[in-house]
Parts: sequence; C-alpha cells; structure tokens
Amino acid sequence: MPIPSASTPVPRLRAAVLGATGAVGQKLVRLLAAHPWFEISALAASERSAGRPYGEVVHWLEPVALPADLARRAVVPVGSDLPCDLAFSGLDATTAAEAEPRLAAAGVPVVSNAGAFRLDPAVPLLVPEVNAEHSALVGRQSWGGGRGMIVTNPNCSVVGLVLALKPLVDAFGLQEVLVTTLQAVSGAGYPGVPSLDILGNVIPTIGGEEAKLESEPRKVFGRLGPAGIEPAGFGLSAQVNRVPVLDGHLLSIAVKLASRVSLAEVAAAFRGFGQPLAGLGLPSAPASPVVFHDSEAAPQPRLHAGLGDGMSVSVGHLRPCGVLDFRFVALVHNTVRGAAGGALLNAELLVRQGLLGRREVAVEPAAAGLATG
Ligand code: NAP
Repeated sequence: MPIPSASTPVPRLRAAVLGATGAVGQKLVRLLAAHPWFEISALAASERSAGRPYGEVVHWLEPVALPADLARRAVVPVGSDLPCDLAFSGLDATTAAEAEPRLAAAGVPVVSNAGAFRLDPAVPLLVPEVNAEHSALVGRQSWGGGRGMIVTNPNCSVVGLVLALKPLVDAFGLQEVLVTTLQAVSGAGYPGVPSLDILGNVIPTIGGEEAKLESEPRKVFGRLGPAGIEPAGFGLSAQVNRVPVLDGHLLSIAVKLASRVSLAEVAAAFRGFGQPLAGLGLPSAPASPVVFHDSEAAPQPRLHAGLGDGMSVSVGHLRPCGVLDFRFVALVHNTVRGAAGGALLNAELLVRQGLLGRREVAVEPAAAGLATG
C-alpha cells in the first residue's frame, strides 16, 4: 500500500468520541483536545448521560482541567447521524457490538478500543509499528460500502506484549511465549474494581483477559495473504493479575526464540529497534516505541509508564531463562498506548495511508451537542 509522505497536507478532521464519559473516553477527550489533525465534534455516551452537559456527567479523572467549551457541550446518544469524519470508540464491548457496525454502515469510519470486532477476519487489529500493512483488510469489509469501516487496537496488555516482542520476531523469530501480567486498576474503567477488593491485594483473574492475550498477538503478527490474515504459529500461555497500581500494566515474559542467540544479541535487538514509522510525521508516534532499560529494577509503572508521553513500551530486567531462552519485563501505559493513544496513532496511520479523510457531513448544532438558542 503506498504511503504518502509526511509533507502531504492533512485536512482537519472532525472526531466523535463514543463512550466519552468512560476512562478511555476521557483520555481520548484529553488527547484530542490538543491534537493537530483532529477536533472533537461530538461527545457521545449512554442514554443516562445524553442531553446533559459533559462537565456534569463525566467523573473527570485526568490530571488536567477539562476545557470549558467541552464541559458545556451536551452529551449526545450514540446514534448513526453523528456529525463527524471519524469516530473513536471507548464503548464497552456489548454496546460496541451493536453500535460500531451501525455507524460503519452509515459511512462512519470507527477506530475502536473495544473488543467486539478484534478477531473479525475483515477487521484490522492494528499496532502501526508492528503491522501497518494490515489496514488493507478494510477493503474486505462490507459495512457501508463506502468509507464506513471498523479498525481496532488490541487489548491493553496485548499492545505491550506485541511491541516488546516485535524486535525479537524481526531479528530471531519466535517459538514460545509465557506471559504473566500485573495489571493496573485503570484498566477496569470507572468505577472499576471496588477499593476493598484491591487495596493491599492481588486478584489472580480478570474476566476474558487470558483468552485475549493468547489469541490477539497471533493475529497481530499474522501474515496478510490473499485469503486474509494467517495467524502466527508461536505458542502462547498467559496468566493475568489485577494489582493496586493506578496506571501501567507490567508483563513478565519468557520466550523461546527460533534461533540460538546470545543475551547480548537480544539486548542489541531491543536497543536498536528504532521507529518504523519515522518519516511519516504521525503526531502520536513516539521517537522510541520500545525503550530498553539496562537496570534490573526497570521498568516500574510509576517511573516509566509515562515515557514517550505514554506511547513508549519499556523493556528491562533481561536475563537468561532456565526453562525457555530469555526472560524480561515489559511495561505499557494501558490507557494511553494500550487504548486512547493507540487509537489516535491508528487513525493517523489511516490518514497517511489515504484510507481516512473528510466526509460530506454538515455539523448540525444539536447533533453535535452545541446550544442552538
Ligand atoms: P468505562 O469507564 O466503563 O466506560 C464505558 C463508556 O461506555 C461510558 O462512556 C458509558 O457511558 C458508555 N456506555 C455504556 N453503556 C452504553 C450504552 N448502552 N450506550 C452508549 N454508551 C454506553 O470503560 P473503559 O475502561 O473506558 O473502557 C472502554 C472500552 O475500552 C472497553 O471496551 C474496554 O474493554 C476498552 N479498553 C479499555 C482499556 C483501559 O485501560 N481502561 C484499555 C484498552 C481497551 P455512560 O457514562 O453514559 O454510562
């Protein structure tokens, strides 16, 4: 697929946020408020919130002030007549399963964080530094027949896992992966896990999460062929835990590689990974998507989840493994790289690839939640 150069001008695009009151929705709102290509044209949530000012219904969790114009904006329902060029979805999976195809059928490109369509054979499961070419799958979608489409990002832990594995897949090939996660409470949305369950505690299960960790990476690393994605063949076993950390999922990973290599070669592969998207001028792309730490005591959520404005995945504590080949620890900011920031980067890639642009849609003040009086 031809990728236009970074110098191609990008028209400002109108973005609706679906699930704007949720944990991921708020992060989308915060990131979009400062985005050079996208502007918020609608804040959509459930009927419980619709019709009321966003500032009243949102339990704002971001450590920056909610912009006053957005606080005044009325929340709109997730209808199909949203005034936008694209919609970012932070809907729960059940709502997304019904709403996202409805919007796509109405011609709206949906860039989603929800799990409903991640494994659909016609839906790209995108991490731009890993599988940018998978966006071509949208040509197989039948929703809308026009510019409507659904593009997803993986589960938040999976994003960290695939970015940490990418340098090894490229350099040596991969045979087996064992991963144990320590996942932050913000991954459960708001209000999330009750404080009496999680404070001073670790919960060794998160509904449906292990199945996502064991299936989504194979699609992300799959080969795009004439019949669609052929999933990657490496073995994968996952154990997940919820821990009392605010932001940042830590992953303890053991790998068996396809070639015999030294620890120094593995460290060099992490260190030398670079930025495959360099030169595209994508505003959300970090300079280093994989940051390698020499220290045994890194990465840590509080110290490193914010690297690259939350878009860099950290890798550290690399050592030989007594059972497989090597062990290391990875860290991903779950609501930024693992959700909202990842969705923005996906949309930016689609713009650069010529798959996203302006739609002929007028912004009716009421549909956009703007006062008409
Ligand atoms: P959340 O805090 O529970 O937010 C859910 C949002 O969906 C709210 O805005 C809610 O609006 C809206 N909603 C619920 N039912 C609705 C309905 N019937 N119609 C329209 N809107 C409805 O969840 P979250 O943590 O932000 O997660 C959102 C999605 O992102 C989920 O699919 C999750 O799996 C995925 N995800 C989350 C993370 C993370 O780290 N948190 C990471 C990656 C992916 P009201 O306020 O009006 O109810």
